Amino acid sequence: MGIPVFVFAGLLVHCVFLASIFDIYFTSPLVHGMTPQQTPLPPPGKRLVLFVADGLRADSLYELDSNGTSRAPFLRSILENTGSWGISHTRVPTESRPGHVALIAGFYEDVSAVAKGWKENPVEFDSIFNESKYTWSWGSPDILPMFAKESEDFGAQDAAKLDTWVFDHVKSFFNSSRSNQTLYSALNEEKVVLFLHLLGIDTNGHAHRPNSREYKENIRKVDEGVKEIASMLENFYGNDGKTAFILTSDHGMTDWGSHGAGHPSETLTPLIAWGAGVNYPQRVASQFFEDNFLKEWKLENLKRLDVNQADIAPLMASLIGVPFPLNSVGTLPLEYLNNSAHFKAESMFTNAVQILEQFKVKMTQKKETTLSFLFTPFKPLSDSEQINLLKKTRLYIQQEKYDEAVSLCKTLINLALEGLSYYHTYDRLFLGLSIAMGFVGWTAYVILVIIKTHTNLTKAAQSHDKESTILLYGFAFVGLIIAFFLLIQTCPWTYYVYCLLPVPVWYAVVKELHVIQDLAAYLLSLPVGQSMGFLLICALGIEILVFSFFYRSTLTIGLLVFAGWPVITQLWVQAKTTALIWILLCMLLGIFPLMPVVGREPNIPLVIATGLLTLLISCSSLSSLCKSKNKYMNNEDLKVQFYQMLSIALSTYVVSSTHDSLQNKQGLPVFNQIISWTTLVSSSVLPLLSPTFLFQRLFSILLSLMSTYLLLSTGYEALFPLVLSGLMFVWINMEQEALQQYGLSLKPKLAVFNFSYATDIMQFRQLHLDDVRRSFFFVFFIVTAFFGTGNIASVNSFDPASVYCFLTVFSPFMMGGLLVLKVVIPFVLVSCAFEAVQVTTQLSSKSLFLIVLVISDIMALHFFFLVKDYGSWLDIGASISHYVLVMSLTIFMMLMNGLAQLLTTKKLELSRKTKHHST
Ligand SMILES: [Zn+2]
Ligand SMILES: [Zn+2]
Repeated sequence: MGIPVFVFAGLLVHCVFLASIFDIYFTSPLVHGMTPQQTPLPPPGKRLVLFVADGLRADSLYELDSNGTSRAPFLRSILENTGSWGISHTRVPTESRPGHVALIAGFYEDVSAVAKGWKENPVEFDSIFNESKYTWSWGSPDILPMFAKESEDFGAQDAAKLDTWVFDHVKSFFNSSRSNQTLYSALNEEKVVLFLHLLGIDTNGHAHRPNSREYKENIRKVDEGVKEIASMLENFYGNDGKTAFILTSDHGMTDWGSHGAGHPSETLTPLIAWGAGVNYPQRVASQFFEDNFLKEWKLENLKRLDVNQADIAPLMASLIGVPFPLNSVGTLPLEYLNNSAHFKAESMFTNAVQILEQFKVKMTQKKETTLSFLFTPFKPLSDSEQINLLKKTRLYIQQEKYDEAVSLCKTLINLALEGLSYYHTYDRLFLGLSIAMGFVGWTAYVILVIIKTHTNLTKAAQSHDKESTILLYGFAFVGLIIAFFLLIQTCPWTYYVYCLLPVPVWYAVVKELHVIQDLAAYLLSLPVGQSMGFLLICALGIEILVFSFFYRSTLTIGLLVFAGWPVITQLWVQAKTTALIWILLCMLLGIFPLMPVVGREPNIPLVIATGLLTLLISCSSLSSLCKSKNKYMNNEDLKVQFYQMLSIALSTYVVSSTHDSLQNKQGLPVFNQIISWTTLVSSSVLPLLSPTFLFQRLFSILLSLMSTYLLLSTGYEALFPLVLSGLMFVWINMEQEALQQYGLSLKPKLAVFNFSYATDIMQFRQLHLDDVRRSFFFVFFIVTAFFGTGNIASVNSFDPASVYCFLTVFSPFMMGGLLVLKVVIPFVLVSCAFEAVQVTTQLSSKSLFLIVLVISDIMALHFFFLVKDYGSWLDIGASISHYVLVMSLTIFMMLMNGLAQLLTTKKLELSRKTKHHST
């Protein structure tokens, strides 16, 4: 296989692997084609008023102020005297959209929304609003277009005014109906829903945090507004007792003003219901909950009725007698109902049949697309069992054994929900195995290519035309059979890709059978302990890398092992000083992953100190260069280094003065901004002007990148590139020593090693087992460069303070670009060092790169099975980005490799006359 074909095949295989997770993990659980189910008895209410106070925490509403009074006196009196209350438990992601979907449609938004974007409605769904006769809604333009029939938007700026706007508009709407006959009669119909979305509390919470006066004041405003609306409506409808009210929120909010994840402050939301059909407060002597809320809120004697967020939709449906939303998975919270036992049993039965409908549709779909002998049905809920349960329940209701009927319905609901999730993940194992087959095959193939082309393990290639033709036909036949099976099961076209891909990949592997035989022979010739030990170390190394994606501190363990490397391999004896520095720097670098994620604790003095330290180091290097009267340096080169030191000094000054000025609220001085941008531009050019001798060039790259990195730092992370590159310098030396130890003593003198001429004179050698370690070190350092100071989450939610030296006006594009630069700088340092290691150990970059490819593919296989389709958006997002990150690691390292080659070998001349460096 030629190089272009190999690269193309590699890209194709990785693209398929990448895309596959969206078919395997992120598919919509919704089904269509169910019959709507409605309770046959007359409903208690004619209309429902739903207040959603966006971002309102349960405790913020229920708790009492320091003087023992409630900040929502009207709602407090409702739950004490006329209504029912509890906590509604939301699911992660605690965002507005999934929260509202759960409230009004009764299902938890599926993760396929990840793949399809947010604003649009990725899936069609049925809600309380659809089922109602009329729905009027008021509120934020973000929420309403998702499901509103009639809606009004607002554009108010002041957060609490968002809510008064809604209340005012509802009032004037009802006033206007008195002179509008059509509207008036519509409002007096049955099955009417009024939805008031109150965004003020969420906005104030984000801006001022939930403990602020603003957030609490806003709750007071909402309470007043709800009171006015309630009394206005009672008046309008002449106290007909046919209006049901529900107040809840879509999600809570953390103490620091965010939501999205699964902290109790985000998932616990209030639920207060009153009016038509809703139960009165139930006084109890004592009630048990694991949390201490009842005591804190002084509500021990009023029965607390907790629900899951999706249960609210069936509650609303039964209050005004509309069909339960078709995709709802909620269970009707009976204790909220003030109605006959017969009504409750009938409603519960409706609920069970409605969920069972979904199960039946889902099962039929799966059955139709699976060969009958391959189909494994969900045993606990077979057709006969369904009929049996339904019959029994009917009978109980006829015999007026309502409690028995209700408990049977609950069993049925639980079974149907289990079955739904069973059929939803039905294909997951089979597709996952297909992809894993492809992964393993591809990795095996790359290993064979490495052995074949870069080692002398294999004998001359044999060619058996006849055998390979038979092989080809054999694999083609297997492919046809697979395609046939997929065809008769009417699988989507993507399934063909996932299932057929392993065929050519494994064909390529089996074709290299003789290499496998030679490899096996070689491995068998080694002592068993040695080969097993090697495999064990490889496996351990990769596990450490995988773990470091989740726990940064794993990197510290890895670095400690690295520190022990010279001791284990006896390099220690050979080069005591170098080994000692190596051990020290490994331990020093190991401190960084233990520190908190960047940006949490700004420490500008530390950044300034780092700048001064860098300056000190470069001064001492300059003076030692001058003292030794290095014959390879000329004035021009000294000038370049002087400029670089100057830019470090300037960066340090800019960081200090910018943050001073920002602290005094004087904004970013223009002079500082100019210096920052000039430094950024010059740092990409200056290294290219310095001599191409190994250490001088690498040092120059470090100085340039450091001056930019300082400008982007706000804390301890400023030290990170400095320590990292210290370790990289020692690494280059250590690899030289290691080379000697393995008897490859053709080593070039590092002090006079020149990047520019390296590739011309060098004879590439064959790969050695130790080169696997070398590649692993590189991958490990790359991962350290990424996770040393941050994690995936810190990249998602970065701190704008780190770009304040460049701009203070919010600009996502610029800020994002600068952040990427900050992340990339440590990568460049590691890549340049690796480039140096490659050339000084006489390896072609291609051979080492193939080993890196194998390592990252094995990691990718791990992350493939670790992709999550549940949890907060942050968890799901992190699991996807781990996978994407590892998949793109190879492409990224290829780019970095090119950049490093450019940075180390290219030399620009300032003056016209050509200079000749004597070598
Ligand atoms: Zn919200
Ligand atoms: Zn929000």
